[in-house]
Amino acid sequence: MPAICQPASDDLFARARRLIPGGVNSPVRAFRSVGGAPFFVKAAYGATLTTADDTELIDFVCTWGPAIHGHNHPAIRDAIALALEHGTSFGIPNPYEVEMAELIVKFFPSIEKVRMCNSGTEATMTAIRLARGCTRRDKIIKFAGCYHGHSDSLLVSAGSGALTHGHPDSAGVPAAFARETIVLPYNDTAALDDAFAANPGQIAGVIVEPYCGNVGFIIPDPGYLAHLRAVTARHGALLIFDEVMTGFRLARGGVQELEGITPDLTTLGKIIGGGLPVGAVGGRADIMDQLAPDGPVYQAGTLSGNPLAMAAGIAALKLLDEENPYARLDALAGQLRSALLSTARAKGLPIQVPQRGSMFSVFFTDKPVRDLASALASDAARYAKFFHACLHAGVYLAPSAYETAFLSTAHEGVHLTRASEIM
Ligand code: PLP
Repeated sequence: MPAICQPASDDLFARARRLIPGGVNSPVRAFRSVGGAPFFVKAAYGATLTTADDTELIDFVCTWGPAIHGHNHPAIRDAIALALEHGTSFGIPNPYEVEMAELIVKFFPSIEKVRMCNSGTEATMTAIRLARGCTRRDKIIKFAGCYHGHSDSLLVSAGSGALTHGHPDSAGVPAAFARETIVLPYNDTAALDDAFAANPGQIAGVIVEPYCGNVGFIIPDPGYLAHLRAVTARHGALLIFDEVMTGFRLARGGVQELEGITPDLTTLGKIIGGGLPVGAVGGRADIMDQLAPDGPVYQAGTLSGNPLAMAAGIAALKLLDEENPYARLDALAGQLRSALLSTARAKGLPIQVPQRGSMFSVFFTDKPVRDLASALASDAARYAKFFHACLHAGVYLAPSAYETAFLSTAHEGVHLTRASEIM
């Protein structure tokens, strides 16, 4: 089995704890919420992870989303090997960046022009700066529980940290930034209308995870996204779809393709890097032309658009274009969902398994999950028990009740049977 190898040794955890805040950062954070210790992975191939102590696990985390083709896909590996040259779009254009832009524009009709960067965070930061620069307004609406990366102005009430570790996400964020961020409940049209009425002519933009993936997976009520579109257009505010998690995962054209909504700006990340760090922000040409050097809104990055990362991303997107795996992934995840539901019901456990395409979550609650508050009603202790039973049986699920789980094209029916029989 070809493997991406990490050195594994007994003192790896000790070294990590000495050198890296929190040990190994976010995995530790998530694992704390289920009362377990994270493991090191020494090899990853397809849907399988091999831990440092040689345990094989079926992976339903997929690197928190990017690994839609499974791990270590030969087409992506070969593309990186062939692109072995150093470069950047910052001053020296390269053809890979153009090809990447063409692929993104092909699948996202709302995107006429696109700028590459190095992460989802940079993409959302740029989108917010563009919204403020274009409208000459300051305030941004975001929704409780939606996560848009670790930039100061968006970290307010992001949900993830508060849920998993008891930290306010916004510690260290300047108060002025927090004041310019209006946090509303997700999936609540009246709250949105009230916020626009209370801040006339002041709201630059609304940023939303169109299907929320960061407090577990939440699909908003029918009509909610259309309402966001109509209200922002009426008030001259930009609508930003943060499709860092959903873009190329639920459909080639993301949630906007599924729902038929045209946002002004879209942010992308995760899958588009093919495993390397890539983000992108795109949208209407007249908005995107406000970016430097043609416009006044600054954005740049030393390694943005570098050939290695672009080559990996192009290979990943081309595979999705050729294979169009979405119906198959939806069917597979749907089978897993049904099996989880019937196992839980047979045991009398309350359960919700929101699922669309290859994204799903397991909430132990009897009420539908519509927003952060109803996600928090999930029985986290029950989830922790479930998580550990899965791990014991060789199935690695999202290590927190409030994380979304993912399937990759490397998953097979046999994996689902193993995962669904445990509870
Ligand atoms: N936006 C969404 C919806 C995300 O899920 C994430 C990361 O999980 C980000 C933005 C930030 O992306 P990155 O971690 O690449 O900076």
